[in-house]
Amino acid sequence: MSAPTSAGAAPERVQEPSRTADEAAHERAELPAGPAAPTSRAATRLRPVPPGAARVTGGFWADRQRANRETAIPSGQERLESAGNLDNLRIAAGTATGEARGPIFMDSDVYKWLEAAAWEYGRQPSGELLQAQRAVTEIVAAAQQPDGYLDSVVQIEGKGRYRDLPWSHEHYCAGHLFQAAVAQVRCTGDRGLLDVAIRLANHLVETFGEDRRHDVDGHPVVEMGLVELYRETGNRSYLELARYFVEARGHGLMESYGKEPTYFSDRVPVREQTTVEGHAVRAVYLAAGAADVAVELEDAELLKALTRQFAHMLATKTYVTGGLGARWDWEAFGDPYELPADRAYAETCAAIGGVQWAWRMLLATGDPVYADAAERMLHNGFLAGVSLGGAEYFYVNPLQHRDGAHPDENRSPAHGRRGWFDCACCPPNIMRMLSSLDGYLATSDDDGVQLHLYASSEVSAAVGGGAAKLSVETDYPWDGRVRVQVQESPEAEWTLSLRAPGWAEGATLTVDGEQQPVTAGAYATVRRAWSAGDVVELVLPMAVRLTEADERVDAVRGCVAIERGPIVYAVEQADQPDGVLVDDLRLDVSAPLETEHRPDLLAGVTVVRAGGRPQAHTAQPWPYRPATTAAAQPQQAEEVPVTAVPYFAWANRGIGPMRVWVPRADRA
Ligand SMILES: [Zn+2]
Repeated sequence: MSAPTSAGAAPERVQEPSRTADEAAHERAELPAGPAAPTSRAATRLRPVPPGAARVTGGFWADRQRANRETAIPSGQERLESAGNLDNLRIAAGTATGEARGPIFMDSDVYKWLEAAAWEYGRQPSGELLQAQRAVTEIVAAAQQPDGYLDSVVQIEGKGRYRDLPWSHEHYCAGHLFQAAVAQVRCTGDRGLLDVAIRLANHLVETFGEDRRHDVDGHPVVEMGLVELYRETGNRSYLELARYFVEARGHGLMESYGKEPTYFSDRVPVREQTTVEGHAVRAVYLAAGAADVAVELEDAELLKALTRQFAHMLATKTYVTGGLGARWDWEAFGDPYELPADRAYAETCAAIGGVQWAWRMLLATGDPVYADAAERMLHNGFLAGVSLGGAEYFYVNPLQHRDGAHPDENRSPAHGRRGWFDCACCPPNIMRMLSSLDGYLATSDDDGVQLHLYASSEVSAAVGGGAAKLSVETDYPWDGRVRVQVQESPEAEWTLSLRAPGWAEGATLTVDGEQQPVTAGAYATVRRAWSAGDVVELVLPMAVRLTEADERVDAVRGCVAIERGPIVYAVEQADQPDGVLVDDLRLDVSAPLETEHRPDLLAGVTVVRAGGRPQAHTAQPWPYRPATTAAAQPQQAEEVPVTAVPYFAWANRGIGPMRVWVPRADRA
């Protein structure tokens, strides 16, 4: 399928730079698919659209993608240089000398950056982006050993390969290399990185497996990478190795190294597991890779196990922001309902892995619960990880930041957003997510086209023996109207499906001027023979919602969160009246809730205005007091205006007190 042209672009859309013939040539080529391209039709309910076939053209995500392209990706390349990632590869190649720098998994940051650059080139080709990734690809290729092995830090240190798989991250780096190589060939046609990936994958196939060395890496991701490499090359041994790595977990391999297995997702076999546990990023990457394996092998039992795990994660271990991972200790999931707001870990990478897992489950099942989850993660827990400018990051994403918080660790949010980290897994991960985001907008199946995420966009998909082209116009997430116009359609009937999120009670769909109700948490569908010019309008209710948590989330009992559309709000000190401290704030839940769009604020956000009754706190020698029987109300205080901003935008005006969950003024 060829990518859509820019014909019919609405005037407010981003002006595309002129392209050379070379740059445009790749668009005419047959492009297979985006980040995950299942090949099993039997086990795939929905099919992703190829790169370029769905494009964000303006609005909320276009702003983020522009910052990603213009600021984050170029500065990311500089960081790979200054932090030593590229030098490590040069030293391993013998073209430079010195000691290895940084953590053992430094190569993975290079690969994630390469993946980001590839998807970004796929979105909008540029000679500069192509040259940059070719130059970095050459550095990677030069470091590879003749038998295919590649890991710069291990090679430099010379202590031997695969000596300490729980910590060495050798397969982890390989997995990110495979994903980058697939992105590169799909978006640029270049095979440079793919050749490196194939040599390394062949080496892994020769080294690991049931009848070879019986071992797994402490950090999953190679599973997703191997399956995608199989999908790209057709080499089934990569799929078999991915299956082996999934099945080998939970059988004592980490314990054989003297490690406690939970952290490594190695306590319980994947197909027997009922929840997510241990290191959050490891757990969700493994689950996403297992979903890929389940789909390709049409393994219904494995998919069922993953369905169960995802449901338990959503029901008991997910923050309202979609953030994952409640514990700083071991960057881990907590027990069910253990979701403290202030010490939330909610690593940015975990939200990304959560989206990747949710997307694979959506493709496999067509269940909109996964698209809902991905939307929540993307707009909140993920997006909070990057500054509005695009190149300052949070590794950890708490839901509360108190006055006087001390930055006790390198990655503490109390430092404010940072340009990079010693352990820099998150920044290039954010880059690749934003540059591949277009691939998460829509899918198709034999029956028609499904829209999952709303953005001003163009979507092209194969339906009913032809190509359907749609243009979507919306100011989502600030406005709930989503206008879909058919640009081109085959003559045969097909079904247009639009997701109504679970929160969208009262949504409507207007077709041919006739309004019809829509069920929240389902796809609204219209089946007909479409003609160019047909318009369907979905209206999602954007009333402000006050949300409370299950009582078992003890940490936020008696509090409410403010939500509107897919956006979770936070009260940040910068927006409150003089003398009103966020730490003292209580929300008057009976006060009216109003909204105002503020184009001048935080790159343009809709704020929520509420009423609060601050409870002034004085220094107490002992922070406990006799319990009262009646609701002893401290809220004789006068009502003050409270302004809430989207959580994702916090800490763009320096670091200060912030909270998502605010105590109710009517509760003691
Ligand atoms: Zn990370």
